[in-house]
Amino acid sequence: MVLSNTERKIIENSIRDIKDFPKPGIVFKDITTLLNNKEAYGVLMSHLYTRYKEYNLDYIAGIDARGFIFGAALAQMLNIGFVPIRKKGKLPYTTISEKYSLEYGIDEIEVHIDAFSEIPNAKVLMIDDLIATGGTANAAANLINQAGANCVESCFIIGLTFLDGIEKLKEKTDVYTLIEVE
Ligand code: AMP
Repeated sequence: MVLSNTERKIIENSIRDIKDFPKPGIVFKDITTLLNNKEAYGVLMSHLYTRYKEYNLDYIAGIDARGFIFGAALAQMLNIGFVPIRKKGKLPYTTISEKYSLEYGIDEIEVHIDAFSEIPNAKVLMIDDLIATGGTANAAANLINQAGANCVESCFIIGLTFLDGIEKLKEKTDVYTLIEVE
């Protein structure tokens, strides 16, 4: 199940480009204008629901912070659990962590060690707003697998195809992007 051209246009037109944010040379894809547009947000969420209701997922894992917005909403629609993958130092219980490099910096993400433990070999969908170099998503996929679950697909609203993040991540998990930016 992929997006129709009409659905893609509605979502694409709702995303705003901010040049030179957070530093010169970066075109920041601003999804706040998707979220406050009820038509675009609705089209997006019902598409994700239609696609993923067939997957028999056990959890959605959302990446800090914009992955929480789509991931938590989708988990509720699918009637499954949501797991936050957070920036270092935010999760209160025992964590496992991974360092990674970002399009603009270096960071570290963590997940609770027991986040998926209720369901053995749980089927997990990872979600974030955007994949650039793939560093964040690659680290998140490692964390999901280290926590004893199975990352069956990663979903991104936007994929930057001029970087090789998507191709690298495909060695680890299936990748689904709704909007590709060349
Ligand atoms: P990366 O690890 O390089 O794939 O970067 C992905 C993460 O950084 C995601 O969590 C995005 O939200 C954020 N990010 C990277 N580049 C951009 C961009 N051009 N516009 C918006 N968010 C970005």
